[in-house]
Amino acid sequence: MSPANEPSFRESVDLMFNRAVAIMDLPPGLEEKIRVCNATYTVRFGVRLRGQIHTFTGYRSVHSEHMEPVKGGIRFATAVNQDEVEALAALMTYKCALVETPFGGSKGGLCIDPREWDEHELELITRRFAYELVKRDLIHPAQNVPAPDMGTGEREMAWIADQFARMNTTDINSRACVTGKPLNAGGIAGRVEATGRGVQYALREFFRHPEDVKKANLSGSLDGKRVIVQGLGNVGYHAAKFLQQEDGAIVTGIIERDGALFNPDGLDVEAVHAWLAKHGGVAGFPDATHTAEGAAVLEEDCDILIPAALEAVITLDNAARIKAPLIIEAANGPVTAGADEVLRKKGTIIIPDMYANAGGVTVSYFEWVKNLSHIRFGRMQRRQEEARHQLVVDELERLDRYLGDAWTLRPEFKDKYLRGADELELVRSGLDDTMRTAYQSMREVWHDRDDVDDLRVAAYLVAIDRVAASYRAKGL
Ligand code: GLU
Repeated sequence: MSPANEPSFRESVDLMFNRAVAIMDLPPGLEEKIRVCNATYTVRFGVRLRGQIHTFTGYRSVHSEHMEPVKGGIRFATAVNQDEVEALAALMTYKCALVETPFGGSKGGLCIDPREWDEHELELITRRFAYELVKRDLIHPAQNVPAPDMGTGEREMAWIADQFARMNTTDINSRACVTGKPLNAGGIAGRVEATGRGVQYALREFFRHPEDVKKANLSGSLDGKRVIVQGLGNVGYHAAKFLQQEDGAIVTGIIERDGALFNPDGLDVEAVHAWLAKHGGVAGFPDATHTAEGAAVLEEDCDILIPAALEAVITLDNAARIKAPLIIEAANGPVTAGADEVLRKKGTIIIPDMYANAGGVTVSYFEWVKNLSHIRFGRMQRRQEEARHQLVVDELERLDRYLGDAWTLRPEFKDKYLRGADELELVRSGLDDTMRTAYQSMREVWHDRDDVDDLRVAAYLVAIDRVAASYRAKGL
């Protein structure tokens, strides 16, 4: 149980927003306009399943329409409620502004435990929910573009896209009504892993700045850093896997629903993920200690803590005991406003959610652009790029023959250089660039302003400034 003075998730987002606007020079009316959620649509619909009618409750919130379409995932979870959806929609507004994806903020949710229903039943429920939203333009390529979130994935997005297409048979852009679709239904390479990949790119960028690393009382690179991850869902799994396999990080702890695994020498993320898929939990995994009280492992000694599951997992209750000097918020809102204050006082560096998990919406943006342009990225340029590179390689080979033993062209150079970029490489390059640029814009504020001493306020300042500029340009 959280202490009584613990703010709710929505209050936390508002408190963090208020902390930022207090040091900005916005006209009071504009401040209020940006903070409030524009609209929330609640729908209750019935679906006949297992011989009886079941009623479901769903939401779609639109936080800010300073840019359209508005964007944000649809979550399937029993804890979904209006306050949560509105807080998540607000975070989408700031997230999109921070990473410069040209969208307003939105979010949706359906109160459901997806594990209670089989695939066919889930399809009926998802299609019916989509129908209600499409009917009101709350799913629309130019107005509101959902994406996966907790409890949803490619499969649900494909159903939503198909439902929209059935209701808009002559709309040539119908595929752009939702992102996170499977490749064969208009998706883009690299979307599934995008949020986890973004977390990796965010950490790589952080470690490119030794002064920032020092602020977290750390040094060196990601290599050998001890990481604890909470939640081995889509985001946590990909982030932990990439950090382990590509950056040399040691994943010492993995926290899941049924407790946590810990091994100071490192856990094999891929093996734990396979175990989880097979057994439905992490308990029993060999080569690790299992603690039934998973949350306790958040407090273990480590270099980087990655909460990648739910909101409000670091609270007034446990914040003082968190040992990690660096926290990267892969989930939305994992640290409450109260805990944030405790951690800031302790000197913990927090890479905030609106930046840390923005990889998903960034690649969603690429997918939306791909759908509107009706062509795969790289399809026109790839072979032409290869042909031009071939010219250089031909010349180098001529030199190679001429110089004899004195110099030779390395075969790996030739292979790497000759290959034109495919869609996946372009998506990764676009994502990497986005994560670097956004970090630098936050960092500039963090370092340059005396009244800003954490990355979260810096992120809010950059984002709110951009949203305000958009409203001003509209004459508001
Ligand atoms: N649900 C993800 C988020 O919270 C992705 C949103 C999107 O791609 O539109 O950022």
